[in-house]
Amino acid sequence: MTHIDRYAVYGNPIKHSKSPQIHAAFAEQTGQELTYRSRLVEVGRFAETAKSFFENGGKGLNITVPFKLDAFDFSDQLSNRARRAGAVNTLAIQNDGAVYGDNTDGIGLVRDINNNLGWEISGKNILILGAGGAVRGVLEPLLRKNPATLVIANRTLEKAELLAKDFSDLGELTVCSFESLGASPFNLVINATSSSLTGELPPLPSNLLTDDACVYDMMYGAEPTPFMRWGAENTAWAVADGLGMLVEQAAESFCMWRGVRPKTKPVIDLLRNMLG
Ligand code: NDP
Repeated sequence: MTHIDRYAVYGNPIKHSKSPQIHAAFAEQTGQELTYRSRLVEVGRFAETAKSFFENGGKGLNITVPFKLDAFDFSDQLSNRARRAGAVNTLAIQNDGAVYGDNTDGIGLVRDINNNLGWEISGKNILILGAGGAVRGVLEPLLRKNPATLVIANRTLEKAELLAKDFSDLGELTVCSFESLGASPFNLVINATSSSLTGELPPLPSNLLTDDACVYDMMYGAEPTPFMRWGAENTAWAVADGLGMLVEQAAESFCMWRGVRPKTKPVIDLLRNMLG
C-alpha cells in the first residue's frame, strides 16, 4: 500500500487559513508527495487532538490562533527560538517518536523584509506597534539583525515592558506608549497590533516616518489595511502587508519537515491573485 505523509494546520477559527493552498503549492513545486489539511480544533482539546494525529502516523502540524501556547506545552523538545518566543507554530514528529516544536513566524518576517522586499533592518531605527504573541515571536530574529534602535509601543505599556525585560540580553529595547511617539522618526514601522482586524488604527503622530521609511503591516488582505493607508498618506517610501511573512513562515516549516526549501515568490504571487 502506498503511504503518503500527512500534515495539517490546527486552529479555531480555521476556515480563513491559506496554509493548505501554500503547502499544496510548495509540494507541487518541489515534487514532494504529501497531504495537508486544515482542521477546526475545539478550544480545550488541542493536546488530545494533536496526540491522536501523531499516534495515527501524522508527520507535522502548523498551529495558529489560539493554540500556539498549547503547542508549546505539548512539545517534547523545543527549538531555541520557540523557547524564546514562548509559542510554537510548527510541530514535527521525530524518529524516536518525540514531538519537536519550533516557531517560524519571526524568521518569516525577517526573510520577507530582507529578501523579498529588499528593506534593511541592520543599522535602522525600528518601531514595532503591539506587544502580543506575534511580537514575542519576531523580537529575537529582528534583534539578531542589529538594528540601531528597536522601540516597542503598545496600548498596555506593562506588556511592552515585560517583553523588553525578557529580551534585554539580545540588545537594547525601549518601550513607550502611543501618546509619547513623535519625538524621533523611524526608518521602519511594523504594525503587529490586531487593530487592523477591526478596521482600526493605533493613534499615530504624522511625524513618525523618515524620508526613506518603510511601513509593514503583519495583517494582510485583498485591500490595503488602515495602517498601510496611514503609511501611504504619511508619504512612506514603501508599504507592504504580511502575506509574504505568512508564506515565508510556511516555507520554513516545509523545509524543516521535508528537507527541501521551496521558492516563495511564485507562491506569494499565487496567493496575491487568490486574494483578488
Ligand atoms: P495578540 O492578540 O497576541 O496581540 C494583539 C496586540 O494588538 C496587543 O499588543 C494589543 O494591545 C494590540 N491591539 C489590539 N487592538 C488594538 C487597538 N484597537 N489599538 C491598539 N492596539 C491594539 O495578537 P498577535 O500578536 O498574535 O497578532 C497580532 C497581529 O499580527 C494580528 O493582526 C495577526 O493577524 C498578525 N500576524 C500575522 C502573521 C503573518 O504570518 N502575516 C503571523 C502572526 C500574526 P494590548 O496589549 O493593549 O491589548
